[in-house]
Amino acid sequence: MDNILFWLGFYLAMLVISTIIGYSKGNVVAGALLGYVLGPVGVVLLLFSKDRRMLPCPDCGCKIHRDSYLCPQCKQKVFKRLK
Ligand SMILES: [Zn+2]
Repeated sequence: MDNILFWLGFYLAMLVISTIIGYSKGNVVAGALLGYVLGPVGVVLLLFSKDRRMLPCPDCGCKIHRDSYLCPQCKQKVFKRLK
């Protein structure tokens, strides 16, 4: 019985960790799913996954937040132009 509780807690912890990492990378659903399905492996995968919040500016190529209106580097309007 203790064993089941341990693994339950373990996977719950993995789920929480992966959700937090997913949130920090702008992908909560994928984070939670990876942590839930793959456990520790999913957490490691998440850590190495691409950060979806930061995208290259179409003008100068520097990494900026996807919700940015202006590029801080070249001061060009990037609103709705980021992919
Ligand atoms: Zn730029």
